[in-house]
Amino acid sequence: MPSCLRKPSILCSLGAVLIIGSIYLWLQISQGPEIHSTIPDPDPRLANLGTTPEWNTLTQYNGVLSLDEFETALHDIYLLGPNLHFDINSEGVKVTSTISQDIPRVTFAQGPARSQPPRYWRPACELPPAPEDRPLDGLRIAIDPGHIGGDWARMEERWYQIADTDPVTEGDMTLLTAELLAPELESLGALVTLVRSTPDPVTNLRPDDLRFYARRLLSGAPEAKILSLSQRLFYRTAEIRARASLVNNTIRPDIVLCLHFNAERWGPIPTMPELSPRNHFHMILHGAYLDSEIAHEDERFELMHKIFQRTHEEEAALAKALATSFLAATGLPAYLYSIGRPAKRLGPALWARNLLANRLYQCPVLFFEPYVMNNKEVYQRIQEGDYEGMREVAGSIRKSIYREYRDAILAGLTTYYGSQRTPH
Ligand SMILES: [Zn+2]
Repeated sequence: MPSCLRKPSILCSLGAVLIIGSIYLWLQISQGPEIHSTIPDPDPRLANLGTTPEWNTLTQYNGVLSLDEFETALHDIYLLGPNLHFDINSEGVKVTSTISQDIPRVTFAQGPARSQPPRYWRPACELPPAPEDRPLDGLRIAIDPGHIGGDWARMEERWYQIADTDPVTEGDMTLLTAELLAPELESLGALVTLVRSTPDPVTNLRPDDLRFYARRLLSGAPEAKILSLSQRLFYRTAEIRARASLVNNTIRPDIVLCLHFNAERWGPIPTMPELSPRNHFHMILHGAYLDSEIAHEDERFELMHKIFQRTHEEEAALAKALATSFLAATGLPAYLYSIGRPAKRLGPALWARNLLANRLYQCPVLFFEPYVMNNKEVYQRIQEGDYEGMREVAGSIRKSIYREYRDAILAGLTTYYGSQRTPH
Protein backbone atom coordinates (compact mmCIF):
# COMPACT_ATOMS: atom_id res chain seq x y z
CA MET A 1 0.00 0.00 0.00
CA PRO A 2 1.53 3.39 -0.94
CA SER A 3 2.55 5.42 2.04
CA CYS A 4 0.44 8.44 1.09
CA LEU A 5 -2.71 6.36 1.54
CA ARG A 6 -1.75 5.33 5.01
CA LYS A 7 -1.11 8.88 6.17
CA PRO A 8 -2.11 11.61 3.69
CA SER A 9 0.44 14.36 3.41
CA ILE A 10 -0.24 17.91 2.18
CA LEU A 11 1.90 17.23 -0.90
CA CYS A 12 -0.07 14.08 -1.68
CA SER A 13 -3.44 15.88 -1.39
CA LEU A 14 -2.15 18.73 -3.53
CA GLY A 15 -1.05 16.24 -6.18
CA ALA A 16 -4.48 14.58 -6.20
CA VAL A 17 -6.21 17.96 -6.56
CA LEU A 18 -3.90 18.87 -9.46
CA ILE A 19 -4.55 15.56 -11.24
CA ILE A 20 -8.33 15.77 -10.80
CA GLY A 21 -8.26 19.42 -11.92
CA SER A 22 -6.26 18.53 -15.04
CA ILE A 23 -8.65 15.71 -15.94
CA TYR A 24 -11.65 18.06 -15.49
CA LEU A 25 -10.02 20.72 -17.65
CA TRP A 26 -9.15 18.18 -20.33
CA LEU A 27 -12.75 16.93 -20.37
CA GLN A 28 -14.06 20.49 -20.65
CA ILE A 29 -11.72 21.29 -23.54
CA SER A 30 -12.35 18.01 -25.36
CA GLN A 31 -16.17 18.23 -25.04
CA GLY A 32 -16.64 21.97 -25.24
CA PRO A 33 -15.93 22.88 -28.86
CA GLU A 34 -17.82 19.87 -30.25
CA ILE A 35 -21.04 20.64 -28.39
CA HIS A 36 -20.73 24.39 -28.82
CA SER A 37 -20.19 24.12 -32.56
CA THR A 38 -23.68 22.62 -32.95
CA ILE A 39 -25.30 25.59 -31.21
CA PRO A 40 -25.70 28.71 -33.38
CA ASP A 41 -25.60 32.26 -32.04
CA PRO A 42 -29.05 33.66 -31.17
CA ASP A 43 -30.44 36.01 -33.83
CA PRO A 44 -33.88 37.67 -33.42
CA ARG A 45 -34.46 37.21 -37.16
CA LEU A 46 -34.34 33.42 -36.72
CA ALA A 47 -36.39 30.98 -34.63
CA ASN A 48 -34.64 29.60 -31.53
CA LEU A 49 -31.64 27.45 -32.51
CA GLY A 50 -32.41 28.21 -36.17
CA THR A 51 -29.67 28.76 -38.74
CA THR A 52 -29.36 30.93 -41.84
CA PRO A 53 -31.20 29.19 -44.71
CA GLU A 54 -29.51 27.95 -47.87
CA TRP A 55 -31.69 30.12 -50.08
CA ASN A 56 -30.33 28.83 -53.39
CA THR A 57 -31.94 25.43 -52.83
CA LEU A 58 -35.30 27.11 -53.50
CA THR A 59 -34.59 27.33 -57.24
CA GLN A 60 -35.41 23.62 -57.43
CA TYR A 61 -39.05 24.71 -57.26
CA ASN A 62 -39.01 26.79 -60.46
CA GLY A 63 -42.11 26.09 -62.55
CA VAL A 64 -43.83 23.91 -59.91
CA LEU A 65 -46.76 26.24 -59.07
CA SER A 66 -48.66 29.05 -60.76
CA LEU A 67 -49.03 32.46 -59.12
CA ASP A 68 -52.63 31.67 -58.23
CA GLU A 69 -51.78 28.26 -56.71
CA PHE A 70 -49.02 29.82 -54.58
CA GLU A 71 -51.19 32.69 -53.31
CA THR A 72 -54.16 30.43 -52.55
CA ALA A 73 -52.02 28.11 -50.41
CA LEU A 74 -50.26 31.03 -48.69
CA HIS A 75 -53.48 32.73 -47.62
CA ASP A 76 -55.91 29.82 -47.18
CA ILE A 77 -53.65 27.52 -45.17
CA TYR A 78 -50.48 29.20 -43.95
CA LEU A 79 -50.88 32.87 -42.99
CA LEU A 80 -53.12 34.17 -40.21
CA GLY A 81 -52.36 37.81 -41.07
CA PRO A 82 -51.48 39.76 -44.23
CA ASN A 83 -48.48 38.88 -46.38
CA LEU A 84 -45.54 41.07 -45.33
CA HIS A 85 -42.57 38.87 -46.15
CA PHE A 86 -43.03 37.40 -49.63
CA ASP A 87 -42.31 39.64 -52.62
CA ILE A 88 -44.75 38.26 -55.21
CA ASN A 89 -45.12 39.35 -58.84
CA SER A 90 -46.34 37.64 -62.01
CA GLU A 91 -42.87 36.15 -62.61
CA GLY A 92 -42.32 34.50 -59.26
CA VAL A 93 -41.86 34.84 -55.50
CA LYS A 94 -38.89 35.99 -53.49
CA VAL A 95 -38.57 35.74 -49.73
CA THR A 96 -37.54 39.03 -48.14
CA SER A 97 -34.46 38.90 -45.92
CA THR A 98 -32.21 41.24 -44.00
CA ILE A 99 -29.72 38.46 -43.21
CA SER A 100 -28.83 37.51 -46.78
CA GLN A 101 -28.42 39.31 -50.11
CA ASP A 102 -29.12 37.66 -53.46
CA ILE A 103 -32.20 35.64 -52.55
CA PRO A 104 -33.40 33.85 -55.71
CA ARG A 105 -36.87 34.48 -57.12
CA VAL A 106 -38.68 31.16 -57.54
CA THR A 107 -40.41 31.34 -60.91
CA PHE A 108 -44.08 30.45 -61.36
CA ALA A 109 -45.43 28.05 -63.98
CA GLN A 110 -46.90 30.22 -66.75
CA GLY A 111 -49.02 27.73 -68.73
CA PRO A 112 -50.78 24.46 -67.93
CA ALA A 113 -47.49 22.51 -67.66
CA ARG A 114 -46.03 21.95 -64.16
CA SER A 115 -42.54 20.78 -63.10
CA GLN A 116 -42.55 17.96 -60.56
CA PRO A 117 -41.40 19.22 -57.14
CA PRO A 118 -38.35 17.38 -55.85
CA ARG A 119 -39.29 15.65 -52.59
CA TYR A 120 -38.23 12.50 -50.75
CA TRP A 121 -41.79 11.45 -49.88
CA ARG A 122 -44.38 9.96 -52.20
CA PRO A 123 -48.12 10.72 -52.18
CA ALA A 124 -50.41 7.66 -52.43
CA CYS A 125 -51.02 8.28 -56.14
CA GLU A 126 -47.28 7.86 -56.87
CA LEU A 127 -46.93 4.55 -55.03
CA PRO A 128 -46.85 1.36 -57.11
CA PRO A 129 -49.91 -0.94 -57.01
CA ALA A 130 -50.32 -2.98 -53.82
CA PRO A 131 -51.80 -6.42 -53.05
CA GLU A 132 -55.34 -6.07 -51.68
CA ASP A 133 -54.44 -7.49 -48.25
CA ARG A 134 -51.31 -5.29 -47.97
CA PRO A 135 -52.52 -1.73 -48.70
CA LEU A 136 -49.40 -0.23 -47.06
CA ASP A 137 -47.00 -2.32 -49.16
CA GLY A 138 -43.67 -0.46 -49.48
CA LEU A 139 -44.96 2.65 -47.69
CA ARG A 140 -42.22 4.24 -45.55
CA ILE A 141 -43.65 5.31 -42.20
CA ALA A 142 -41.81 7.10 -39.39
CA ILE A 143 -43.52 6.94 -36.01
CA ASP A 144 -42.58 9.83 -33.74
CA PRO A 145 -43.58 9.09 -30.13
CA GLY A 146 -44.15 12.59 -28.74
CA HIS A 147 -42.03 13.95 -25.87
CA ILE A 148 -39.48 12.07 -23.80
CA GLY A 149 -40.14 9.53 -21.10
CA GLY A 150 -38.86 8.28 -17.77
CA ASP A 151 -37.44 10.91 -15.44
CA TRP A 152 -37.27 13.49 -18.25
CA ALA A 153 -41.06 13.76 -18.29
CA ARG A 154 -41.10 15.72 -15.03
CA MET A 155 -38.90 18.43 -16.49
CA GLU A 156 -41.16 18.55 -19.53
CA GLU A 157 -44.24 18.86 -17.30
CA ARG A 158 -45.80 15.90 -19.12
CA TRP A 159 -46.08 13.94 -15.87
CA TYR A 160 -48.48 13.66 -12.95
CA GLN A 161 -49.09 11.14 -10.20
CA ILE A 162 -51.97 10.69 -7.78
CA ALA A 163 -50.83 9.22 -4.41
CA ASP A 164 -48.84 6.05 -5.11
CA THR A 165 -50.70 5.04 -8.31
CA ASP A 166 -48.76 4.67 -11.58
CA PRO A 167 -47.45 8.02 -12.83
CA VAL A 168 -49.12 9.33 -15.99
CA THR A 169 -46.24 10.09 -18.35
CA GLU A 170 -47.07 11.18 -21.88
CA GLY A 171 -43.64 10.30 -23.32
CA ASP A 172 -43.90 6.69 -22.07
CA MET A 173 -47.51 6.32 -23.22
CA THR A 174 -46.67 7.49 -26.76
CA LEU A 175 -43.75 5.05 -26.92
CA LEU A 176 -45.94 2.14 -25.79
CA THR A 177 -48.52 3.06 -28.47
CA ALA A 178 -45.74 3.22 -31.08
CA GLU A 179 -44.44 -0.23 -30.07
CA LEU A 180 -47.93 -1.71 -30.44
CA LEU A 181 -48.50 0.06 -33.75
CA ALA A 182 -45.23 -0.71 -35.57
CA PRO A 183 -45.63 -4.52 -36.03
CA GLU A 184 -49.25 -4.13 -37.18
CA LEU A 185 -48.24 -1.56 -39.82
CA GLU A 186 -45.47 -3.92 -40.94
CA SER A 187 -47.94 -6.77 -41.32
CA LEU A 188 -49.84 -4.51 -43.78
CA GLY A 189 -46.62 -4.08 -45.77
CA ALA A 190 -45.22 -0.80 -44.38
CA LEU A 191 -41.53 -0.16 -43.68
CA VAL A 192 -41.57 1.36 -40.20
CA THR A 193 -38.95 3.33 -38.27
CA LEU A 194 -39.37 4.78 -34.78
CA VAL A 195 -37.90 8.27 -34.48
CA ARG A 196 -37.44 7.60 -30.73
CA SER A 197 -37.28 4.00 -29.49
CA THR A 198 -36.23 4.55 -25.84
CA PRO A 199 -37.46 6.89 -23.08
CA ASP A 200 -34.34 9.02 -23.62
CA PRO A 201 -33.99 12.15 -25.77
CA VAL A 202 -32.74 11.95 -29.36
CA THR A 203 -30.61 15.12 -29.03
CA ASN A 204 -27.13 14.89 -27.51
CA LEU A 205 -27.54 18.36 -26.02
CA ARG A 206 -28.60 18.87 -22.41
CA PRO A 207 -29.95 21.97 -20.61
CA ASP A 208 -26.47 22.91 -19.38
CA ASP A 209 -25.22 23.06 -22.97
CA LEU A 210 -27.97 25.59 -23.74
CA ARG A 211 -27.49 27.80 -20.68
CA PHE A 212 -25.21 30.20 -22.60
CA TYR A 213 -27.76 30.53 -25.43
CA ALA A 214 -30.59 31.10 -22.93
CA ARG A 215 -28.55 33.73 -21.09
CA ARG A 216 -27.98 35.65 -24.31
CA LEU A 217 -31.70 35.54 -25.14
CA LEU A 218 -32.69 36.73 -21.64
CA SER A 219 -29.83 39.06 -20.94
CA GLY A 220 -29.99 40.28 -17.31
CA ALA A 221 -32.87 37.95 -16.27
CA PRO A 222 -32.80 36.09 -12.93
CA GLU A 223 -30.93 32.78 -13.00
CA ALA A 224 -34.13 30.76 -12.39
CA LYS A 225 -35.64 32.09 -15.64
CA ILE A 226 -32.47 31.30 -17.57
CA LEU A 227 -32.46 27.76 -16.18
CA SER A 228 -36.11 27.27 -17.12
CA LEU A 229 -35.51 28.54 -20.68
CA SER A 230 -32.44 26.33 -21.11
CA GLN A 231 -34.60 23.33 -20.14
CA ARG A 232 -37.30 24.31 -22.66
CA LEU A 233 -34.68 24.82 -25.36
CA PHE A 234 -33.46 21.31 -24.58
CA TYR A 235 -36.66 19.25 -24.46
CA ARG A 236 -38.63 21.21 -27.01
CA THR A 237 -36.37 22.99 -29.47
CA ALA A 238 -33.13 20.98 -29.59
CA GLU A 239 -35.01 17.71 -29.26
CA ILE A 240 -37.40 18.39 -32.17
CA ARG A 241 -34.55 19.73 -34.31
CA ALA A 242 -32.57 16.50 -33.70
CA ARG A 243 -35.63 14.44 -34.63
CA ALA A 244 -36.14 16.53 -37.78
CA SER A 245 -32.58 15.86 -38.85
CA LEU A 246 -33.19 12.13 -38.41
CA VAL A 247 -36.48 12.28 -40.33
CA ASN A 248 -35.23 14.41 -43.25
CA ASN A 249 -31.69 13.07 -43.64
CA THR A 250 -31.87 9.41 -42.60
CA ILE A 251 -35.40 8.00 -42.50
CA ARG A 252 -36.87 10.07 -45.38
CA PRO A 253 -40.36 8.60 -44.92
CA ASP A 254 -43.53 9.03 -46.98
CA ILE A 255 -45.41 10.11 -43.83
CA VAL A 256 -44.69 10.75 -40.15
CA LEU A 257 -47.15 9.76 -37.43
CA CYS A 258 -46.65 12.09 -34.43
CA LEU A 259 -48.25 10.39 -31.44
CA HIS A 260 -49.46 12.51 -28.52
CA PHE A 261 -52.02 12.48 -25.75
CA ASN A 262 -53.78 15.73 -24.93
CA ALA A 263 -54.37 17.31 -21.49
CA GLU A 264 -56.48 20.00 -19.91
CA ARG A 265 -54.78 22.30 -17.42
CA TRP A 266 -54.03 20.25 -14.29
CA GLY A 267 -52.71 22.99 -12.03
CA PRO A 268 -49.25 23.77 -10.68
CA ILE A 269 -48.71 20.70 -8.46
CA PRO A 270 -48.23 17.47 -10.49
CA THR A 271 -48.78 15.31 -7.40
CA MET A 272 -52.18 16.97 -6.81
CA PRO A 273 -53.54 17.33 -10.37
CA GLU A 274 -57.01 18.58 -11.15
CA LEU A 275 -59.03 15.94 -13.01
CA SER A 276 -61.26 17.21 -15.81
CA PRO A 277 -64.66 16.05 -17.07
CA ARG A 278 -63.60 17.04 -20.60
CA ASN A 279 -62.30 14.54 -23.15
CA HIS A 280 -61.82 15.09 -26.89
CA PHE A 281 -59.86 14.43 -30.08
CA HIS A 282 -58.23 16.52 -32.79
CA MET A 283 -55.42 16.45 -35.31
CA ILE A 284 -53.01 19.27 -36.12
CA LEU A 285 -52.06 20.00 -39.72
CA HIS A 286 -49.28 22.38 -40.67
CA GLY A 287 -50.35 26.00 -41.20
CA ALA A 288 -51.67 29.13 -39.45
CA TYR A 289 -48.39 31.02 -38.96
CA LEU A 290 -48.55 33.85 -36.44
CA ASP A 291 -47.09 37.19 -37.55
CA SER A 292 -44.34 36.72 -34.95
CA GLU A 293 -43.45 33.33 -36.46
CA ILE A 294 -43.42 34.34 -40.13
CA ALA A 295 -41.19 37.24 -39.03
CA HIS A 296 -38.41 34.62 -38.69
CA GLU A 297 -36.51 34.18 -41.95
CA ASP A 298 -35.84 30.46 -41.44
CA GLU A 299 -39.58 29.86 -40.92
CA ARG A 300 -40.31 31.59 -44.25
CA PHE A 301 -37.75 29.33 -45.90
CA GLU A 302 -39.27 26.20 -44.35
CA LEU A 303 -42.73 27.34 -45.43
CA MET A 304 -41.52 27.65 -49.04
CA HIS A 305 -40.66 23.91 -49.00
CA LYS A 306 -44.12 23.08 -47.67
CA ILE A 307 -45.96 25.17 -50.27
CA PHE A 308 -43.91 24.09 -53.30
CA GLN A 309 -43.87 20.40 -52.33
CA ARG A 310 -47.69 20.59 -52.15
CA THR A 311 -47.43 18.84 -48.79
CA HIS A 312 -50.77 20.14 -47.57
CA GLU A 313 -52.80 18.34 -50.23
CA GLU A 314 -51.62 14.87 -49.18
CA GLU A 315 -51.53 15.74 -45.47
CA ALA A 316 -55.14 17.01 -45.52
CA ALA A 317 -56.47 14.00 -47.43
CA LEU A 318 -54.75 11.59 -45.04
CA ALA A 319 -55.82 13.55 -41.96
CA LYS A 320 -59.45 13.52 -43.10
CA ALA A 321 -59.43 9.70 -43.34
CA LEU A 322 -57.65 9.35 -39.99
CA ALA A 323 -59.92 11.81 -38.16
CA THR A 324 -62.96 9.91 -39.44
CA SER A 325 -61.58 6.59 -38.18
CA PHE A 326 -60.57 8.12 -34.82
CA LEU A 327 -63.95 9.72 -34.14
CA ALA A 328 -65.64 6.39 -34.94
CA ALA A 329 -63.21 4.17 -32.97
CA THR A 330 -62.99 6.28 -29.82
CA GLY A 331 -66.41 7.94 -29.64
CA LEU A 332 -64.61 11.14 -28.60
CA PRO A 333 -66.07 14.51 -29.58
CA ALA A 334 -64.08 16.74 -31.95
CA TYR A 335 -62.10 19.40 -30.05
CA LEU A 336 -62.88 23.06 -30.70
CA TYR A 337 -60.15 25.65 -30.10
CA SER A 338 -61.45 28.67 -28.24
CA ILE A 339 -61.88 31.88 -30.22
CA GLY A 340 -58.66 33.87 -30.43
CA ARG A 341 -56.34 30.86 -30.36
CA PRO A 342 -53.84 30.83 -33.25
CA ALA A 343 -55.37 27.96 -35.20
CA LYS A 344 -57.38 27.59 -38.43
CA ARG A 345 -60.22 25.08 -38.56
CA LEU A 346 -59.92 22.92 -41.67
CA GLY A 347 -62.61 20.31 -40.98
CA PRO A 348 -64.18 18.21 -38.20
CA ALA A 349 -61.41 17.72 -35.60
CA LEU A 350 -58.82 19.13 -38.06
CA TRP A 351 -56.90 22.27 -37.12
CA ALA A 352 -53.90 23.99 -38.71
CA ARG A 353 -51.09 25.18 -36.45
CA ASN A 354 -47.43 25.95 -36.98
CA LEU A 355 -45.58 23.51 -34.70
CA LEU A 356 -41.84 22.99 -34.84
CA ALA A 357 -42.24 19.29 -35.72
CA ASN A 358 -44.83 19.65 -38.46
CA ARG A 359 -42.87 22.57 -39.95
CA LEU A 360 -39.44 20.93 -39.95
CA TYR A 361 -40.43 17.41 -41.04
CA GLN A 362 -40.43 17.84 -44.82
CA CYS A 363 -43.25 15.39 -45.60
CA PRO A 364 -46.93 14.98 -44.64
CA VAL A 365 -47.19 14.90 -40.84
CA LEU A 366 -50.17 13.32 -39.07
CA PHE A 367 -50.19 14.85 -35.63
CA PHE A 368 -52.63 13.13 -33.26
CA GLU A 369 -54.06 14.71 -30.10
CA PRO A 370 -56.59 12.18 -28.73
CA TYR A 371 -57.64 11.68 -25.08
CA VAL A 372 -57.31 14.16 -22.22
CA MET A 373 -54.77 12.50 -19.91
CA ASN A 374 -56.26 14.12 -16.79
CA ASN A 375 -59.85 13.24 -17.67
CA LYS A 376 -61.32 10.97 -14.94
CA GLU A 377 -62.11 8.05 -17.24
CA VAL A 378 -58.85 8.34 -19.19
CA TYR A 379 -56.94 8.34 -15.91
CA GLN A 380 -58.58 5.02 -14.97
CA ARG A 381 -57.86 3.57 -18.41
CA ILE A 382 -54.20 4.55 -18.07
CA GLN A 383 -54.07 2.93 -14.62
CA GLU A 384 -55.44 -0.29 -16.17
CA GLY A 385 -52.39 -0.37 -18.47
CA ASP A 386 -52.22 -2.30 -21.75
CA TYR A 387 -54.17 -5.59 -22.11
CA GLU A 388 -55.47 -7.84 -24.86
CA GLY A 389 -59.17 -8.06 -25.73
CA MET A 390 -61.93 -6.21 -23.88
CA ARG A 391 -62.30 -5.34 -20.22
CA GLU A 392 -64.65 -3.32 -18.05
CA VAL A 393 -62.91 -0.10 -17.09
CA ALA A 394 -64.56 3.02 -15.66
CA GLY A 395 -68.00 1.48 -16.17
CA SER A 396 -67.73 0.43 -19.82
CA ILE A 397 -66.25 -2.47 -21.78
CA ARG A 398 -63.27 -1.20 -23.73
CA LYS A 399 -60.05 -2.15 -25.44
CA SER A 400 -56.91 -0.90 -23.73
CA ILE A 401 -56.51 2.80 -24.48
CA TYR A 402 -53.27 2.07 -26.36
CA ARG A 403 -54.86 -0.56 -28.61
CA GLU A 404 -57.85 1.64 -29.33
CA TYR A 405 -55.38 4.38 -30.41
CA ARG A 406 -53.42 1.90 -32.51
CA ASP A 407 -56.51 0.42 -34.20
CA ALA A 408 -57.91 3.84 -35.10
CA ILE A 409 -54.67 4.64 -36.97
CA LEU A 410 -54.65 1.23 -38.69
CA ALA A 411 -58.27 1.68 -39.85
CA GLY A 412 -57.63 5.19 -41.20
CA LEU A 413 -54.47 4.27 -43.10
CA THR A 414 -56.04 1.10 -44.52
CA THR A 415 -59.04 3.09 -45.77
CA TYR A 416 -56.90 5.82 -47.30
CA TYR A 417 -54.22 3.76 -49.05
CA GLY A 418 -56.71 0.99 -49.92
CA SER A 419 -58.80 3.50 -51.87
CA GLN A 420 -55.94 5.55 -53.37
CA ARG A 421 -53.67 2.78 -54.66
CA THR A 422 -54.48 0.52 -57.54
CA PRO A 423 -54.56 -3.17 -56.51
CA HIS A 424 -52.06 -5.64 -58.02
ZN1 LIG B 1 -47.95 15.99 -26.40
